[in-house]
Amino acid sequence: MSSYILDSEIKFLPGVGPKRALLLEKELGVRTFRDLLYTFPFRYVDRSRFYAISEIDSASTYIQLRGTIKSISLAGSGKATRLIAVFSDGTGYIELVFFKGIKWMQDKLQVGQEYVVFGKPSVFNEHYNFVHPEIEPVAKVAASGNPAMTGVYSSTEKLQSGGISGKVFTTMQQKLAQLVAGQIEETLPEYFLQRKKLIPLGRALHDIHFPPDTYALEQARRRLKYEELFYLQLALVKQKFIKMREGTGVMLPRIGAAFNYSYSHLPFPLTGAQKRVLKEIRADVTSGRQMNRLLQGDVGSGKTMVAIFSALQAIDNGYQACIMAPTEVLAQQHYNGIFKYISTDLVKVALLTGSTKTRERREIYAGLADGSINLVIGTHALIEEKVQFANLGLAVIDEQHRFGVDQRSRLWSKSEIAPHILVMTATPIPRTLAMTLYGDLDVSVIDELPPGRKPIITTHVGENQRKKVYDFMRKEIDAGRQVFVVYPLIKESEKMDYENLEQGYLAITEEFKAPDYITAVVHGKQTPENKAFDMNLFVTGKADILVATSVIEVGVDVPNASVMVIESAERFGLAQLHQLRGRVGRGAEKSYCILMTGYKLSKESRDRIDMMCATNDGFELAEADLKMRGPGDFEGTRQSGLALDLHIADLAKDSPMLEDARNAAIDILDDDPSLSKAKNALLAKNLQNIRTEVTDYSKIS
Ligand code: ADP
Ligand code: MG
Repeated sequence: MSSYILDSEIKFLPGVGPKRALLLEKELGVRTFRDLLYTFPFRYVDRSRFYAISEIDSASTYIQLRGTIKSISLAGSGKATRLIAVFSDGTGYIELVFFKGIKWMQDKLQVGQEYVVFGKPSVFNEHYNFVHPEIEPVAKVAASGNPAMTGVYSSTEKLQSGGISGKVFTTMQQKLAQLVAGQIEETLPEYFLQRKKLIPLGRALHDIHFPPDTYALEQARRRLKYEELFYLQLALVKQKFIKMREGTGVMLPRIGAAFNYSYSHLPFPLTGAQKRVLKEIRADVTSGRQMNRLLQGDVGSGKTMVAIFSALQAIDNGYQACIMAPTEVLAQQHYNGIFKYISTDLVKVALLTGSTKTRERREIYAGLADGSINLVIGTHALIEEKVQFANLGLAVIDEQHRFGVDQRSRLWSKSEIAPHILVMTATPIPRTLAMTLYGDLDVSVIDELPPGRKPIITTHVGENQRKKVYDFMRKEIDAGRQVFVVYPLIKESEKMDYENLEQGYLAITEEFKAPDYITAVVHGKQTPENKAFDMNLFVTGKADILVATSVIEVGVDVPNASVMVIESAERFGLAQLHQLRGRVGRGAEKSYCILMTGYKLSKESRDRIDMMCATNDGFELAEADLKMRGPGDFEGTRQSGLALDLHIADLAKDSPMLEDARNAAIDILDDDPSLSKAKNALLAKNLQNIRTEVTDYSKIS
């Protein structure tokens, strides 16, 4: 049993007891001294200095002023009667306004006397004033010896009614601080604190609750954030190092007939970014170690070419390859598209999905087991137990975030040496998040679109302009283009969403009458056959309009489509909107994305829509999304299993510190990979407490 003071149960803190302990656990999850100590104030009241009236600006929070009252008067009448005291500190004037307790204030306040005023300035008639500030004569404030800065903790109704008011909570923190003073064990080595100029943990944990001034608070926050980010990165980098040492990979040194055939028959030159990524992959697969690489590239950046040439490398060296897509539609599309690029004499390709017929399925199983099939494209049907490969050398996982962790981890034990893994995603992930989410993977980025792409023109249109939108659609269709109309599908209101889609479909077919116009419809309630049929109508150009739920979000490639209409656009997230928009703009024609919304938009929705209209850059949008919503909501983060609910650090705001912490972790592990040197004993010990359940892609084959 540990007798470390921070592990003590909270009920043993003087003044808490079993009843309050229960309440603290229920409301705040606080069970131990440590839990309480790590419950930090969410803001501070700064009485560490006096502000000048001339300093006040719109960003001012609670501040204190020191000055004299110049005049006192009454204004308004009836309920609007208010007492106004004009207050000055020599740098300017400000009005103190009281609506209540007027009589009492009239008696208390005296013109010409010096006061300390404390409150939050607000704006009225273009002037700053204080409404109901705290106000005390200077002499009285000086005598009370109040602390300079006071933390304010978040509370709940139940805490309040259960007798744990803000004041009581602060008192608990005070008692705890006294009790643990001098007993908090340091968690970072001395040399590291010095190198990074970090204050000791004990002091940081004291000052974050009771900072003597803003500088001390800043130091405390920096120390605690740094520690949090550093240990997370230390854990991730360590895993990566272990993998690099242990993960033997199949060697794919040969560039042979299959690769050369495709390379010389390319309909277009590869972009610089595609070539660079292929080089990075080539370095991996000839290193003798297993590749675990994440390829990020915006929609339409040409990731498929990278997948194909990676697969061809495996095949030229006598190994098999597979490409796994998240949906049947996408798998089918990859399969249909690949014959443009490869020689079927040199590469035998198969398609394996949930709807592959039994007989064909058996043949494919046999072909994979005896090695006669070189490349298989499919859905999760590829990871079923019956699928056995003769010698799988490389696996590509496309649009990875659609695979749940379960499906991924059930993947292969299907060959003796784990195959090389290339995970591709079109959901751009901000650098800082990628560093954490995929901290154990190597990351490649395609940051260049194929030449000739015109930016997609994005506009925001209100419900009342639907007629105009229809006119525009007609113009484009008459010019030979195709149009997507997408409806949101959100689990909670699935039924209503289908109704919306149904009504939308009716309205469209009413407006765009057959046989002049053909409209296809695709949604999750159709049978796979119907879905495939309608999808095919659109892909082959027989249908002019595709009405769909967001199932078309990922990967569908119809170069002739030039307009993407998104209904109820306010209900989609930024990443999703960007994905949808990426379905157009793939051909040579000018393309358009029309975001339809209702009248009333929340500020957040409006910001999202404005961002979409302002930029086509997926990475820029991803950064903005991270800032707006935080990492918890980020697509892919929830499935990652990684504890991203950082306590004090913020992946969006603290990215320079995160990068510094990652580099520090790399430096330390470069010098001492197993953390066995005496000076790193503390790191080794504390690392055991860090929970990082990073998906192990080497087990995914
Ligand atoms: P994504 O990265 O979204 O998967 P795709 O691989 O589907 O993108 O490529 C999008 C489109 O760009 C396809 O029609 C593809 O043929 C085309 N393409 C890919 N690479 C190039 C290139 N280097 N030059 C011109 N067009 C390209
Ligand atoms: Mg793709």
